[in-house]
Amino acid sequence: MPELPEVEVVRRDLDREIVGKKIKAVDVEGMRAVRRHHNRKQFTSRLVDRKFIAVERRGKYILCRLDGGDVLVVHLGMSGQLLRAKTSRDPLSKHTHVVITFTQGGQLRFVDPRTFGEMFVTELDNVDEVAELAHLGIDPLETAMSWEHFGDLLAQRHAKLKPLLMDQKFIAGIGNIYSDEILWGAGLRWDRMSDALTSEEVRRLYRSMMETLQDAVKHRGSSLADEQYVDLFGRPGEYQQFHNVYAREGLACPRCRHEIVREKVSGRSTFSCSACQV
Ligand SMILES: [Zn+2]
Repeated sequence: MPELPEVEVVRRDLDREIVGKKIKAVDVEGMRAVRRHHNRKQFTSRLVDRKFIAVERRGKYILCRLDGGDVLVVHLGMSGQLLRAKTSRDPLSKHTHVVITFTQGGQLRFVDPRTFGEMFVTELDNVDEVAELAHLGIDPLETAMSWEHFGDLLAQRHAKLKPLLMDQKFIAGIGNIYSDEILWGAGLRWDRMSDALTSEEVRRLYRSMMETLQDAVKHRGSSLADEQYVDLFGRPGEYQQFHNVYAREGLACPRCRHEIVREKVSGRSTFSCSACQV
C-alpha cells in the first residue's frame, strides 16, 4: 500500500505534469472509483473544461485543485496508480477506471486492480469537512515541528509506538513499512510506550522519522515484489533497496549483525532487530 513518501512522489510528478493543463474529456468505467458521486455525470461535469492550477497533499490524499474552486481528490488505496499517457493511443492497462484527456493532448489515467482507491470532486472550501480528511494528524513532510513538540504529542498518549505511528489521527501517512524502518532507525522496540520515553529517545525517534521519510521520497518510494506502486511514469521506486528491517526476516541487522525477526502485531507483520532495538 502506498504510504506518505510514495504519495508525495506522485504529487510532485503531478505538480510538474498536469498544472496548467485543461481537461477536454473524462471517461469513467463503472461507478466503483467514483462511488461518492451519485452518477458518473456528476463527477465528469465538474472536471470538463476546467484547468488544474495546483497539486497539494493531505496525508495520503492528493488534492488536484481546479480553476473555479473545485478540487479533484485522489486516494490510491491499496493498489491505485495514477499514470500519465503521452497520447490517447497508448494502450489502456487492465483495471483502468478513469481517463482524463487534456486539450493539449495526453491523458491522466487512474488504474486500480483492488478498487480500494477512489476519486471525487468537491469544493476546496469543503475539503476539511470530508470525514477522512477532517481528523488527519500531523503531516511530517509538510508541517515544521520541533522534536520537543513531537515529544509533547507522544507524552499526551499512552500507546505502543508502532500502532501510534500508524494512527492516521496522530501522524498522517505512515503505514507498516515506514513504521518498522523508523523504529529501527531510532533503535526502539515497536511496543515501547509513547509516554515512557527519555528525551534522548524522543529525539532519536523524531530524527529517524524525518530522515526515513525524506530519504524515501528522495529514492522515489518503495515498490515491493508485487510492484503495485509506480510513479506517474510507471516506474517503480528504489527505496526498497535501502530498507534495513522490513521484509528482511532472518537476515543480519545492518547495524549490529544480530538476526532480524518477524512478529505478528494486530494481524500485520512487524520486522525488527532482535538485539539493538530496546
Ligand atoms: Zn541490530
